[in-house]
Amino acid sequence: MSIKENIQEIRSNLPEHVTLVAVSKTKPETDLQEAYDAGQRILGENKVQEMADKWKNLPKDIEWHMIGHLQRNKVKYMIDFVSLIHGVDSFRLLKEINKRAKKVDKKVDCLLQIHIAEEDSKFGLDKAELLEIIDSEAFSNLKNVNIKGLMGMATFTDDENQVRREFKHLKSLFDELQGKLTDIHILSMGMSGDYQIAIEEGSTMVRIGSSIFGARK
Ligand SMILES: *Cc1c(COP(=O)(O)O)cnc(C)c1O
Repeated sequence: MSIKENIQEIRSNLPEHVTLVAVSKTKPETDLQEAYDAGQRILGENKVQEMADKWKNLPKDIEWHMIGHLQRNKVKYMIDFVSLIHGVDSFRLLKEINKRAKKVDKKVDCLLQIHIAEEDSKFGLDKAELLEIIDSEAFSNLKNVNIKGLMGMATFTDDENQVRREFKHLKSLFDELQGKLTDIHILSMGMSGDYQIAIEEGSTMVRIGSSIFGARK
């Protein structure tokens, strides 16, 4: 199926309250343009340089989401155009985003990334670290970042029960966060292999790459 058909197929299966991020990392700009022509306006990338290059060349009404692990020294290269940063996994990174956003006089939307998988390789905060950040006075002083919710990646496994358990854990932290901060409404969970489970467990934003653009090399 074409990129356009894949997008239409996935869209037709998403509940209205779930936002689709088309993950276009590693894919050529012609593929991104094809997604755009199919009506897709939110694209996800995991490398700052690649995202900045694509941003320069593609239509300006695309919303660019940074979904990857982010180094602090790269924040400045995307601060002008990024619309949502999914992978905020430390207070130092959040402070850097705030500092850069302040310099260009804007407020940047962010999600805090939670480590929910069993695998060590995945980034993210645990519950104690999450609470430590949001309860701190330093956090309340960051005026140029808006925390909109949480993001997480489940373990890459065929064990559906495990994936479901990990998503349930993320959803429970999300509910807790809603009680502590205002404006928390994005729960970014679910990829090509597990987004249906994620939606059943309360996801409001899915990040889908290979089911739209085909396998990556
Ligand atoms: C690559 C990536 C995705 C998309 O993965 P697919 O399995 O291709 O859908 C989603 N989220 C993150 C954080 C990614 O790095």
